[in-house]
Amino acid sequence: MTEEREAIADGVPAHVLFEEGLGLSYDDYILLPGYIDFHASQVSLETRVTRRITIKRPIVSAPMDTVTETEMAIGLALQGGLGIIHYNNTPEEQAAMVRRVKRFENGFISDPVVLGPRHTIADVDHIKQTHGFSGIPITEDGTLNSRLVGIVTNRDIDFEKDRSRPLAEVMTTDLVTAPVGVTLSEANKILKESKKGKLPVVDSERRLVALVSRNDLIKNKEFPEASKDPRKQLLVGAAVSTREEDRRRIDLVIEAGADVLVIDAAQGYSRFELDTLRYIKETAPHVDVVAGNVVSVTQAEAMIRAGADALRIGMGPGSICITQNMMAVGRAQASAVYRCAHYARQFDVPVIADGGIRGIGHILKALAIGASTVMLGSLLAGTAESPGEYLYENGIRVKQYRGMASLEAMNAGGGKRYLNENDGVQVPQGVAGTVVDKGSLQDYVPYLHKGISQGFQDMGVRSIPELHEALYSGRLRFERRTPAAQEEGSVHSLVSYREPRWGIR
Ligand code: GDP
Ligand code: GDP
Ligand code: 5GP
Repeated sequence: MTEEREAIADGVPAHVLFEEGLGLSYDDYILLPGYIDFHASQVSLETRVTRRITIKRPIVSAPMDTVTETEMAIGLALQGGLGIIHYNNTPEEQAAMVRRVKRFENGFISDPVVLGPRHTIADVDHIKQTHGFSGIPITEDGTLNSRLVGIVTNRDIDFEKDRSRPLAEVMTTDLVTAPVGVTLSEANKILKESKKGKLPVVDSERRLVALVSRNDLIKNKEFPEASKDPRKQLLVGAAVSTREEDRRRIDLVIEAGADVLVIDAAQGYSRFELDTLRYIKETAPHVDVVAGNVVSVTQAEAMIRAGADALRIGMGPGSICITQNMMAVGRAQASAVYRCAHYARQFDVPVIADGGIRGIGHILKALAIGASTVMLGSLLAGTAESPGEYLYENGIRVKQYRGMASLEAMNAGGGKRYLNENDGVQVPQGVAGTVVDKGSLQDYVPYLHKGISQGFQDMGVRSIPELHEALYSGRLRFERRTPAAQEEGSVHSLVSYREPRWGIR
């Protein structure tokens, strides 16, 4: 900033805001507006999650058993974010989830229901009843990855009275197929030309690999923002614990193709974590590692020195979290993010602001004090892509959401991020509850993206690197908010009002 602009600049730069030694949270400050000479659509939210991995949206899902499994990881990567698969499962189960994300191909049914020639029409009827479709590829032994011998669709069987006839007698055998590796647009072109309802994808030995359905043609949206590796497969992360027995888990998820490992410990400044970090860096130097959780510069320094490719910041701000009250240790989240990000910047290590994010405003505030991405638990737990079923609570559609250190999750094996010894006595550091239905990620993430872009426009910055440049140069101006200012900035003076679908933050 020129001296002349500096002289009339209002508010304070971030280092003044955070210098008092008081723990600040996102609600304790506000950003002053910048100068707008561009459209919100010109804002780019491209950012680095780790040293070597760049994504288009600054959104990472929490490795929790009510937040991230295959569906969340796929849905979020398609929308330009990154999912971190939780470890409250066996190493094999977690590796299988990672593999499913890496194998996912948009528009391709990668695990189609398959039957064999000796199955009967009644078997197709049963699939129709339970799954709702009846286009069934027939392979030699009735499984995927076996040789394709035919296809049965509604039209082959709808007038057939004898439902016990084997499919060998009714299936179509001269098939239009596509070779493995076919792109979605090529597959769509073949489907248009063949005028068939299904396109089986086969390998060089004619073994069935996938299926494309004509009825999906129109639905087959392209996802230009999707987070992908150089081989065009979706990016995915996996959480691992610092326990010795998790070395095998580390090996398995890396073998399954995990792009990022997150060492998931509530208090990361431990010999166990540093040993784990060094183990991964030695055995798999090509995999980026997120170390954490940390909240102070002392902790951050140790992680970076041991080779961390990103830091995960937060101890106690999570919506389900009771650590600060139970353990008397932690830090107000904005102070933690600012201090650690400021320190890590000189080593070019990005930080993830993890926990306590209640909406778009908090995402903006986390990015504005140096975070490169945010990690979301409660905000994503109610989406269609999170694990678990919807249920009704007082007439509101909700999903379960629980802390990984809630008694419920610990009893299911999730307490590994806390250094609990297995001696029978459990002290929870989290609670279990419910969150409201948020609909699909395919609507929710674009909503977050648009809101964040508009916030950037109000700040007068077009990208996350520019925001960070403005933060550290002092061009970005902040102001503390008194409790009265916070109240003034919220809805007030109304008898009643209706909250918009996705809340008011
Ligand atoms: P069909 O002609 O009766 O098989 O059904 P449609 O093609 O009209 O619709 C089937 C829908 O289910 C499509 O959107 C598919 O992508 C989806 N689907 C998901 N899994 C499978 C599967 O294993 N087999 C088939 N045939 N469709 C599936
Ligand atoms: P629908 O979903 O019931 O409209 O059926 P389809 O359009 O998929 O299939 C119509 C007829 O074409 C049936 O006799 C199918 O067995 C046959 N058929 C389906 N897929 C293929 C294919 O890839 N190649 C060939 N040659 N026939 C197919
Ligand atoms: P949220 O987005 O819901 O506010 O916070 C999610 C974050 O809370 C997670 O990414 C994780 O860091 C943290 N977390 C998850 N489970 C627990 C728990 O049981 N106790 C504590 N203290 N933190 C948790």
